[in-house]
Amino acid sequence: MQQGMRDVCIVGGGPVGLSAALTLARQGRSVTLLEARDLGYVEPDAMDARSIALSLSSQRIFESLDLWDDLRPNCAPIRHIHVSSAGHLGMTRLHADELGLEAMGQVVEYHLLQQTLLIEAEREPAIELCFPARIESLQMQDSGPVIEFRSEQEEDLQCREGRLLLLADGGQSDLAARLGLQRESRDYGQTAIVANLRFDRAGDGWAWERFAARGPMALLPLVRDRYALVWSLPPQQAEALIEAGETDFIEALHQQFGYRLGRVREVGRRAAFPLVLRRTRPLSGSRWALLGNAANVLHPVAGQGFNLALRDVSTLYDVLEGCSLDGDPGEALQRYARRREPDQQRTLAWGNRLVELFGNDLPILDHGRAAALGLLERCPALKCEVAWQGMGYGSDLSSLMRGRP
Ligand SMILES: Cc1cc2nc3c(=O)[nH]c(=O)nc-3n(C[C@H](O)[C@H](O)[C@H](O)COP(=O)(O)OP(=O)(O)OC[C@H]3O[C@@H](n4cnc5c(N)ncnc54)[C@H](O)[C@@H]3O)c2cc1C
Repeated sequence: MQQGMRDVCIVGGGPVGLSAALTLARQGRSVTLLEARDLGYVEPDAMDARSIALSLSSQRIFESLDLWDDLRPNCAPIRHIHVSSAGHLGMTRLHADELGLEAMGQVVEYHLLQQTLLIEAEREPAIELCFPARIESLQMQDSGPVIEFRSEQEEDLQCREGRLLLLADGGQSDLAARLGLQRESRDYGQTAIVANLRFDRAGDGWAWERFAARGPMALLPLVRDRYALVWSLPPQQAEALIEAGETDFIEALHQQFGYRLGRVREVGRRAAFPLVLRRTRPLSGSRWALLGNAANVLHPVAGQGFNLALRDVSTLYDVLEGCSLDGDPGEALQRYARRREPDQQRTLAWGNRLVELFGNDLPILDHGRAAALGLLERCPALKCEVAWQGMGYGSDLSSLMRGRP
């Protein structure tokens, strides 16, 4: 059995686990990251058809970590956002230049984000990557985690000990339960259809959010003149549209979105994501902390799940700065949980309010929907406030969000 003592053991090599590994390695920590899947050899498209809208705060964090130059070629800027509600009056537009910015965010395909972070992690001597790795046991001792696992290359049981455990397993494994954590879930009763599209016209930096009673539809600009579709629908309707022929699918899409970009010319592989709200608590203990989907799974309507998680990672970086993991990091980890809870609650509540306000056809809410969009359109100060919140600058400004240290 091979032994090794590390500062930090991370379980989960999704974008959040990899970002955390790189962030803490930049702080001089030795990191072992264990990932169940074979990250290196998976067909990109088969991995995940999702795209991620990175907020300005996420861009700043990646810039601070010197990762942005590698990510940028695969990112499409969001310069304008158009929000409207099908069948109701009222819409609002946000423009980056009115906020003194070049872009309010950037859109990158999930697999390209993960691949870029993986390449960077492979280059980083302080990071040991183990994938595919099957965790056989996880014990929390006073000194930190002890993890036994098997890798494909070496069937022998291997062991890593660390001073700190970060759980970034996406919240779907039983590891949180093994730590005795409570998980609270609520089904949104919606499934997101995700696909990449080409229209007659290229988007020129416009992102579109179109609300409808059966669920919201977002179209986000992608590199190479494509759009990323995220369309939330009741599960049966989503299933029918995933199975539908291409012509029927395109017709249904135009019924909700209209012809703002001309006609859809090309549709990529359609994938379905059942939508749940999930919170796992507490956020941290004496030598462990939760990150990303392992802590919070949100509705994608506001495109905040990964951005919120990256803000968690950047706060973790701050609270651990100057903290020796050989000592007791418990107090620093409590500060992490205290600092992150308000942002997590606010972001979660904001997404839920959008789903509730726009996600039903009660006529009594028509007025509220039109009024909310109209008010935003007419009130630049409010629009500005909403835009900065969406860009991740609501509160808890970490050092990495401010720019290069
Ligand atoms: C349709 C859709 C659209 C979205 N759009 C946006 C957006 O525009 N902007 C945004 O910010 N967010 C968005 N999100 C949310 C975003 O995708 C998630 O927040 C993000 O992927 C979370 O990353 P993660 O690394 O925590 O989890 P995951 O991406 O789920 O990764 C978890 C990793 O852990 C591994 N793992 C699991 N169990 C184990 C184990 N026992 N041992 C080892 N490894 C394990 C898994 O194999 C996986 O690689 C969207 C989500 C959806 C569904």
